[in-house]
This record gives sequence, C-alpha cells and structure tokens, in this order.
Amino acid sequence: MNLYGTIILVTLVTTFLIKLLADVLNLRAASPDIPDVFVGVYEQDAYRRSQDYLRANTLFSLVEASFDLALLLVFWFAGGFNRLDQYIRGFGFDTVIAGVLFIGALLLLQSVAGLPFSLYKTFVLEERFGFNKTTPQVFVADLFKGLLLAAVLGSPLLALIIWFFDRSGSLAWLWAWSGVTIFSLLLQYVAPSVIMPMFNKFTPLEDGPLRQAILRYADDVRFPISGIYVIDGSKRSAKANAFFTGFGRHKRIALFDTLIANHTEEELVAVLAHEIGHFKKRHILVSMVLSMLNLGVVFFLLSLFMNNSRLSDAFYMQQVSVYSSLLFFMLLYSPVEFILAVLLQMLSRRHEFQADRFAVATYPGGRALSDALKKLSKSNLSNLTPHPFYVFLNYSHPPVLQRILRIEAEASRKHS
Ligand SMILES: [Zn+2]
Repeated sequence: MNLYGTIILVTLVTTFLIKLLADVLNLRAASPDIPDVFVGVYEQDAYRRSQDYLRANTLFSLVEASFDLALLLVFWFAGGFNRLDQYIRGFGFDTVIAGVLFIGALLLLQSVAGLPFSLYKTFVLEERFGFNKTTPQVFVADLFKGLLLAAVLGSPLLALIIWFFDRSGSLAWLWAWSGVTIFSLLLQYVAPSVIMPMFNKFTPLEDGPLRQAILRYADDVRFPISGIYVIDGSKRSAKANAFFTGFGRHKRIALFDTLIANHTEEELVAVLAHEIGHFKKRHILVSMVLSMLNLGVVFFLLSLFMNNSRLSDAFYMQQVSVYSSLLFFMLLYSPVEFILAVLLQMLSRRHEFQADRFAVATYPGGRALSDALKKLSKSNLSNLTPHPFYVFLNYSHPPVLQRILRIEAEASRKHS
C-alpha cells in the first residue's frame, strides 16, 4: 500500500463517514410538529408518513452505500482490477478495445451488483409508500434500454478518450476535452427528440385554457416555445415534475401528467414561470460552462497521472495502461469532485431562489408557486425539516419551507 493507495482509501472512508454523519443529523432533525406554514396542508397522518419515508430512505441509502464501499474495497484488495486486466489482455486486442472492455466490464459488474437495490427501492420501498407505478415489464425494458444506450453512446466516447491519450502525446487532454465537449453538446441536441422518447411518451398538450395560459405567459416574458408536451410520468411513479428541453428556438416544455392532474392552471403556469426563470437568468448556460471547465481540469490533471506506475501499483496492477490510469485517477480525484459537487449545489440553490423570484415578479399569479410547492412536497412526502448540514451536502434545491417563506414574502411586497 503506497501513498496513492493510502490517500484513496482514507478519502473513500472519510467521505463515507461525512455522509453518515449528515444522515444521522438529518434524522435527528425530524421534528414531530408540523411547521406553521404547512398546518392545513399536511394532516398529522401525512406528516408522520413523510417522516417514515425519510427514515426508510435514509436506512436504504446507508445500506446501499456501505455495500458499494465494501464491494470496491474487496475487489481492490483481492487484486480484482489486475485479474480482470490480465484476462482481457489474454485476447490480444489493442489498447482502445481492451480499455473499453475493461471499463465496460467494471460498469456492468457495478450495475449487476446494484440490481437488487434498485429492485428493492422500486418494488418494496416506493411501493410501500404508494409511489411505485413501474410494472416489472417497464423495469426490465428500462434496464435494457439503459444498457443499450451505454453501449451505443458510452463506448465510442470512451474509445475516443483512450485513443487520444494513447496516441496524441502531451496535448491529448486538449483533444479529449474538445471531443467530449462536442459529443455532449450533440447529445443535448438529440436527447429530446431521440433518447427521451425511448423512455417516455410525449403527447402535445391539447388546446384549451391551460395551453392558452402558458402561451400567453411565455409571450409576455418573450420566451419562444416550440412545443408543450405532456409526458407519461405516471408510467413509473406517482411523483410529479416538469422540465424543459432543447436549445435556442427549439425549447420544449414537458409537463408530467401527474403534475397536471393535481394542480390548478395558475399553479402550473407558476411552475413553468420558475423554469423559464432558469433560462432567462442564464442558469442553464452557467451550469453548462462550469461543467465544461471542470471537465477540462479533470482531463489536464489526468494527463499528469497518465501511466503513473505508483498509482497503478496501489491497485496491484502488473502493467500500466491508459485505461486503468483513467479509472484510478478518477478515484484519486474523487475528494476534489466531492468538494466541487458541494459548491455546485450551493450555486444551484441560489439559482432556485432566483428562479422563484423571477416567477413571482413576472407572473401575476406568482404566489401560486408556493401553493404548488406545498402540494408537491405533500404528495412527494418531502422532508420539511432537513438538517442544514445535510442540505449543504446533498440538496440541489433549497428546503421547500425556505422557498415558500421567500415566495410569500416577495409576493406580499409586490402587492403592497
Ligand atoms: Zn428550479
């Protein structure tokens, strides 16, 4: 066990313990009393169920995270990486193909090991709380479509990265970075029309008061929409959502059928006003640029650790290779990634407040956003009193209570 091995081991264990601490604090923060704002929205019974749901989910993710960590450590210390590498090398493929097989096999192993967890989560945990709508057929179909996508899209991309690092010397990181950036831009372009329809049905929202209200608001704020769709989210879960897809003039709105079923027209437009706020405030662009910059840094640092024999030794490898360097570097980089993720979520929570403010400022029925959030958190059994440390580590959105209080304060300011 050399320095690299020690750093990675300590990091893995420390990250696990930090998350465990956040979980424990979060459970202990669950208060038996309904927060004032929610009196009249949550009945005592629903509130108790939301806390049962929190406990069940926390326990589940704890067991899953412990299993993942144990699996990685056992595989690592039993020399699994080297055995797999030697086995694949036995076929005599070139580096690119061997690398795709090596990383592909590890990912496959990981998803097979995770299968019991996702089965339990869908058919036991979510089922018990009345959320699950996924049939075994849909579950199996999703699994195969996911694998197919990973094979069709993931392996050429991985092959390209390995090829650059194998052939193009000290500027490989720049080539890999450009390649992946172009690839992910293309992917965002084709995802709404090719990939998403593989998983869900998109039906144009029929003409009526809701459609008219959405178009009127979009026109008011000069936001071009090329389509409004209803998506069959109820195929998998009773939980509701809404999102946007596409670029430039091709922006599409997708509303979950489960969202439409439970909300008033005013609430739905307010939810969309929030989503449009993300575009208008350039949040989508900012996140995209930040993740591209991060990717550039990752590839540059990776190039410094390429074919590093000490890093390779830490995993008991007989031979160094571009592809195993890629994998081990990602493990070495994980503490940095952990910190970056926390920072990005901080930014994301600010963005959510800004989008809420945009909705209240531009839509006359903006206050309805707080009604929508109340209903959503009730029907999704959201945790109303998360611990601040847990929020700091895990929340991409501010706790719903904070959002509601701010929205209502801004709405009253606007009307006074
Ligand atoms: Zn948002």
